[in-house]
Amino acid sequence: MIIKETANIKNKKFISVSEAFAMSSVDGPGIRVIVFFQGCFINCAWCHSPHSKPSCSPLLFYEQSCSICMRCQTCKQNVHVFKDGKHILHREFCLQCGKCIDECPNSSVYKESGTLKLPTKKVTAQSLLLQLLPHISLCDGITLSGGEALLQDDTTAFLRLCKDKGIHTCVETSGLLESDCYAKALPFVDVWLFGLRVLTNNNSDFHTKKLIPNAQLIKNASKTIIPVIPLIPGVMDRDEVLAEMLLVLNVIDSDEIQLNPWNIFYDVYYKALGIETTFLKPVDKAIKQCEAKVRKFFKGKGYKLTNRKEDKK
Ligand code: SF4
Ligand code: SF4
Repeated sequence: MIIKETANIKNKKFISVSEAFAMSSVDGPGIRVIVFFQGCFINCAWCHSPHSKPSCSPLLFYEQSCSICMRCQTCKQNVHVFKDGKHILHREFCLQCGKCIDECPNSSVYKESGTLKLPTKKVTAQSLLLQLLPHISLCDGITLSGGEALLQDDTTAFLRLCKDKGIHTCVETSGLLESDCYAKALPFVDVWLFGLRVLTNNNSDFHTKKLIPNAQLIKNASKTIIPVIPLIPGVMDRDEVLAEMLLVLNVIDSDEIQLNPWNIFYDVYYKALGIETTFLKPVDKAIKQCEAKVRKFFKGKGYKLTNRKEDKK
């Protein structure tokens, strides 16, 4: 669904979101509306949504659907340059005015897909809820994902509005934010999808010391935590990493673990941003081996495992 922008940067009170989808069956209990918030500083090497890291996404360009008609040269900033039949973008000059999208025959601000896209919308908390309400009314609740939704000041205000309407709320997080972020939102969140990001790249230090107190904080408030393991081949399937996850799981005290499969479209947004990927794309065999090893390890410890893309009924 398209979120309509209702705030401008001069308003201090707004939320930056990219996309929202209704009827998701893999993002929390039941069928849900999921909305993706902008902004994240965690820098996981395997992040598949690099456009959601800044508070506002740069212009996305999907080269395969560009017909090289050059109409986007309407841009006064000279962002769109054509050389030897190639369309080159100088995003550093982009002012995000959207005029090139208006001119492009293959793009529209009213479409999810298109050759050119400015995904970030600034909305007030009230407006975001009003726009999503018709869809939420057909679902079991709403899930806030990202980016890291809780990094934005007005996210708690949005969650409070949801609770005032009796909406079931779920927040997906890396578990790696400062504890204040969790403490503020706690009263307004029913379920937490809590990432077991004990590492954020191949050689990073373990983040267990951050994850454990944050998980403890949420548990102390008697809230439900669903632990989520991103299946990153060569990282999350290492023996020492599995052992660290177990330390966090002991605090979470859940019978269920959700597995987040490797995203085979990992590099799509990197291409659309014109930047290099930060993690070597794993081969199919490594992806399968990673899932098999993680499943075997946690099954052996008595956990019920579900694959977020396949197992959920
Ligand atoms: S959004 Fe505006 S400034 Fe940016 S490339 Fe398009 S026309 Fe140029
Ligand atoms: S207007 Fe659209 S289709 Fe035409 S060259 Fe620009 S991006 Fe490509």
